Amino acid sequence: MLIRDGFIAAVGTRAKVEALRESRKAEKIDLGGCVVLPGFVDSHTHLIHAASRAEEYELKIAGASYEEIARKDGGILNSVKKLRTATENALKTRATAALARFAAYGTTTIEAKSGYGLDVASELKILKLHQSLGAEQPVEIASTFLGAHVVPAEYRAKSDGAERYIELLTEKLLPQVVAAGLAEFCDVFCDRGAFTRDQSRCVLQAGMDLGLMPRIHAEQLSRTGATQLAVELGAASCDHLEQVNATDIRALGKSETVATLLPGCDFHLGLKKYAPARALIDAGAIVALATDYNPGTSPTVSMPMILSLACTQLRMTPAEAIAAATINGAYALRRENKIGSLDVGKQADFAAFDVADYREIPYYFGVNTCVLTFKRGRVIHASE
Ligand SMILES: [Zn+2]
Repeated sequence: MLIRDGFIAAVGTRAKVEALRESRKAEKIDLGGCVVLPGFVDSHTHLIHAASRAEEYELKIAGASYEEIARKDGGILNSVKKLRTATENALKTRATAALARFAAYGTTTIEAKSGYGLDVASELKILKLHQSLGAEQPVEIASTFLGAHVVPAEYRAKSDGAERYIELLTEKLLPQVVAAGLAEFCDVFCDRGAFTRDQSRCVLQAGMDLGLMPRIHAEQLSRTGATQLAVELGAASCDHLEQVNATDIRALGKSETVATLLPGCDFHLGLKKYAPARALIDAGAIVALATDYNPGTSPTVSMPMILSLACTQLRMTPAEAIAAATINGAYALRRENKIGSLDVGKQADFAAFDVADYREIPYYFGVNTCVLTFKRGRVIHASE
């Protein structure tokens, strides 16, 4: 591969690339013996949060469900409480450390959602951090507004609390987010205990009217029809999909909406029902994989671990899983022309793994074999 100014200028056999005149004066990095892949594109994360929820981990192990914990002011509302009182500096320090870890596992681009603020000031605080982190460290960040994560506590006590909160999102918050250029996408958690399909449509439509592309948390805990809504609105992706039915699978198979699977969630929660990846692939759906990095249900930054889960639990082949974690993730962020594969003209975003065969990346589960990560042609991670 020949890299010029951060972009791939030529790619092919060693003999072909080394014969190019420009190659003779190029700085040479020999990755012989390693497997080199496009940098992972992690298209679903909740990057900015104040703390882990390790205290809930034990409750879950003892048998409490995610929804039971949420009803007792745990879950997302627990993270909201912590985020609102956290300083911008503390949040930034935590996120910067996480981004360096993403890079250490071979990830070069992530999507990041707001959604632990749930009031005007706190949501803007998160989105502004996406922007400043994107400028100050090398991992690329695609910013998503997820004001409709759940209804915040102060609205739950009111009659029509959900409707009034949606009004705050659509009338006040969304226009400010768009005016300041703080997000590309608008997301909604459409599920039992969060937002209904009609409420989700209302928020996503308001985002679309202002130029934000929709994406949806769909059919995770229950089937709500969110997948149909995603396809109907032409959403960039619909994510989770553990509870989809045959009609949903057929609809995704015929659409450009990416089916983003998050097996880290099911693994961390100890759930047995994973999304039907094989049926989705057989139906022709565009399947992507992501970590869903978040403090409640999937506290991992490791795309190689997600590949291992995709292979053993979703029955995807290593090649399908790698495509889902690179080019299909890029398509889920509508960046497929810039990143996600090693083609001439694309950004030189790639990672080198110390393995003899690409299948060994998921095979050595829980082991980080990534030794070098490059973003736009520059080293952003090197192992000892
Ligand atoms: Zn999520």
